[in-house]
Amino acid sequence: MSFSEFNLSEPILRAINECGYTTPTPIQSQSIPQIIAGRDILASAQTGTGKTAAFMLPALARLSEFKRGTSGSPRVLVLTPTRELAAQITDATRKYGRYLRVKSAVILGGVPYGPQFRDLSGSIDLVVGTPGRLIDHLDRGSLKLDRVELLILDEADRMLDMGFRDAVDRIVAAAPNARQTLLFSATVDRETAALASRLLNDPLRVSIASTQASQAQIEQRLHVTDDMSHKKRLLHHFASDPACGRTIVFTATKRDAEALAIELSGKGHRAASLHGDMGQSARTRAVRDLRDGRVRILVATDVAARGLDVNGISHVINFDLPQAAEDYVHRIGRTGRAGATGIAISFAASRDDQQRLERIERFIGKRLPQTTIEGLEPTRPMVLDGKKKAYNRNDRNNYGKTTDYARRQEGAAKRSPYGNRRSSAA
Ligand code: AMP
Repeated sequence: MSFSEFNLSEPILRAINECGYTTPTPIQSQSIPQIIAGRDILASAQTGTGKTAAFMLPALARLSEFKRGTSGSPRVLVLTPTRELAAQITDATRKYGRYLRVKSAVILGGVPYGPQFRDLSGSIDLVVGTPGRLIDHLDRGSLKLDRVELLILDEADRMLDMGFRDAVDRIVAAAPNARQTLLFSATVDRETAALASRLLNDPLRVSIASTQASQAQIEQRLHVTDDMSHKKRLLHHFASDPACGRTIVFTATKRDAEALAIELSGKGHRAASLHGDMGQSARTRAVRDLRDGRVRILVATDVAARGLDVNGISHVINFDLPQAAEDYVHRIGRTGRAGATGIAISFAASRDDQQRLERIERFIGKRLPQTTIEGLEPTRPMVLDGKKKAYNRNDRNNYGKTTDYARRQEGAAKRSPYGNRRSSAA
């Protein structure tokens, strides 16, 4: 299948061509024709599957039709949980819509109101925003949603996790009932399903084994660690390894992200931190610096795990294991993107991380192969199920059963969602 088989206008096809996309990904081939036909969609798909283009191309196709937006009253609204994701969707809009006369605005918290008032006071076609600031603008009357034809919720599960349920309901209530709605979510749990049933009308269900592309191309390794100082020595080892290119290090706390970035910089590495306590401009700068190569190592909390779309990340290092197994998959998905290969290294404290590790391994359906670095071996083995059980280096067995997730991974590994990609997108 090629993009020209979709009913997309020439300017959109030209922009896609310039991005180097030759073949639609599964989420794109399954949803784009249906969205263009006007159907509501409930899609399980994570970042990395090409979901942004899956909703943005039909949105732009709709906007390039004759009607023009009026001031403060967009025809398409994209709701996202985080500022990073909103900024990325806006970038994608500009990229795919570069030959169209579509006016878009991004409405985020943590930045001044002035430019947003200015954007909303002119005629506007598409708004991408986070719930809190959108509500602010609704309350102030600077944003009206009564002309919204297409409402898109991206990472809906994350939006609910972050406590935006009421805000989402208020925003939806301000939009007309006769609209088209698309809901994208990494997972569809009970709460997301309930939201979907409130919002969607006879939706088409599209399910993409999200990490399929990346997982097959990501080498995952586990390092058992004794304590904080052992973790730091391992981190410095990897930071100094010439094979370690653009790298994201994940920590559990903002304080550690900050402290480790300072420590790495002190040792001469180009490092920066990214976490929720930073102002928007500092966060944007950190991501831009990583993208542009001014920074090689970004030390981040999970804020950055979702949505962060920087190509060419060679390593993801879980300095701390995430609490939720799903976040592990999100984190490692920052590498191995769009056909590239990547390495995901996880540190697991032999005393404290058994449960977290077991949850992750159950979720991904396989054991993480343990690796050691000469001179930096752990002094204690990992304790599992109360028993001393040192993992074998090549132990990749499942936990005796194949999980649904593992089955999806296996199937997915056989069919990469990406066709030949002629050039890098951004
Ligand atoms: P997303 O899941 O929307 O965050 O997209 C992940 C990455 O895949 C982005 O860097 C996109 O530019 C890229 N991408 C999206 N669609 C395609 C495609 N059809 N072919 C190649 N790369 C794509």
